[in-house]
Amino acid sequence: MIQTSDRFKEHVTRALADDDLKIALSRTTGLLQARRRQVIDEYAEYGAARERAGAIKDHTLAHLDHYLEMFETNARANGATVHWAKTPEAARRIVTKICTQAGAKTATRVKSMLGEEIGIAQALSDAGVERIETDLAEHIIQLAQDPPSHIVMPAMHKTHEQVAQLFDDLHDIAPDTHDIPDLVGSARRELRQKFLSADVSISGANFLIADTGATVTVTNEGNSELTCTPPKVHIVTAGIEKLVPGMAHASVFLRLLARAAIGAEITQYTTFYNGPKRSGDADGPEAYHIVLVDNHRSEMLGSDLQAMLKCIRCGACMNHCPVYAAIGGHAYGAVYPGPMGSVLTPALSSLKAAKDLPNACTLNGRCKEVCPVNIPLPDMLRNLRARQWEAKLASPVTKLALGAWRFVARRPKLYHFATGMAVFGMRLLSLGRTRIRRMPMAGGWVKYRDLPRPEKGSFMQQYKASKHAGEKRP
Ligand code: SF4
Repeated sequence: MIQTSDRFKEHVTRALADDDLKIALSRTTGLLQARRRQVIDEYAEYGAARERAGAIKDHTLAHLDHYLEMFETNARANGATVHWAKTPEAARRIVTKICTQAGAKTATRVKSMLGEEIGIAQALSDAGVERIETDLAEHIIQLAQDPPSHIVMPAMHKTHEQVAQLFDDLHDIAPDTHDIPDLVGSARRELRQKFLSADVSISGANFLIADTGATVTVTNEGNSELTCTPPKVHIVTAGIEKLVPGMAHASVFLRLLARAAIGAEITQYTTFYNGPKRSGDADGPEAYHIVLVDNHRSEMLGSDLQAMLKCIRCGACMNHCPVYAAIGGHAYGAVYPGPMGSVLTPALSSLKAAKDLPNACTLNGRCKEVCPVNIPLPDMLRNLRARQWEAKLASPVTKLALGAWRFVARRPKLYHFATGMAVFGMRLLSLGRTRIRRMPMAGGWVKYRDLPRPEKGSFMQQYKASKHAGEKRP
């Protein structure tokens, strides 16, 4: 995916005018919030598990070099070939070289955000390898030629009706009806033979287990097993932050991940890959490669962005973000959208290229509240804003507005006069209604949402009036 976060405002304008997107987002985010709430309420140890998960990640990151070496030694002992990639370019080179050496014409893929991050799709296409996405949502967006819009539900921006139309138009045999079971059946029919005849499989990893060298994938469709078992070569690409020390630690995250991501107690399939096919095994790949990707992660270690390396990519922060719910994932113009993306994208690219993202936040704190590893996203976004200010990246309008605010806020009498006038003006603009629909110089604010009419008088005027009223009480 080509990063276009420098055109964030343009993307937002388009997203807010997209009625299909509004329907798609409203059908999903509310449902995910309700499901998460229910399973968390039923999980009595949630608070303790969350604390433990955060502590495991902190410990692993503090000893990352040790656990990476342990993982590499154990993975090699299992028969894996371990590769190290400092950059996305290096990771792409490694993957395409393995494909070329295997004489691969087709590669099946299991959804992996790291694959998007390193640009695997374009690399395979350049190497003449046909890419087949096997996750249902990834299959949908591959047909639509869209990038993912969510890290767990990449086709969240598509309505049921749009998906049905895509399958009608692009599947070899169109679905019998537009009912969901028929649509799923149609995708299964389309993909089944491709699973079985692929030359190479490429998966991500939700976790890397240091003391066994295993890589772990979790899916709800079983496509990881179908993808990674038949081809003669299996390639795993994973960020170095996916490490956990051992199996017992992974189980803490497995219990949190599904609850936070989709509101389920556990995912349908959790698979531990432990190397290539061994003698006596009925099936499995003959060659098994693990590509460990850095891509600025080691620079985040020890910085104020280190906590972002604890992220387990559950997507809960975006499901609960009012900004994401209004604009969807594509507007962010980056692989990782929503609150976590607004922190991670500047770290993986640059503060300048992603300068609008940390500002696309109301700092309401819901993302931190629902994060299963307690990442302080609002604090990190605030820090990024401060760094932008220090780096003189703020726009002239922002500088002017903040300068004016500072001038007024330092003069209490002027401040009270200005806020009183603002309230008076806004009440006039409401034309007697409870909502303001038009506002000079802030047309963008009220174009897609109503601004409530303020109460009569500023907060200070109301406070003084209530205090005064209280004094008079007997
Ligand atoms: S930041 Fe937290 S809530 Fe957001 S995706 Fe990562 S782990 Fe999940």
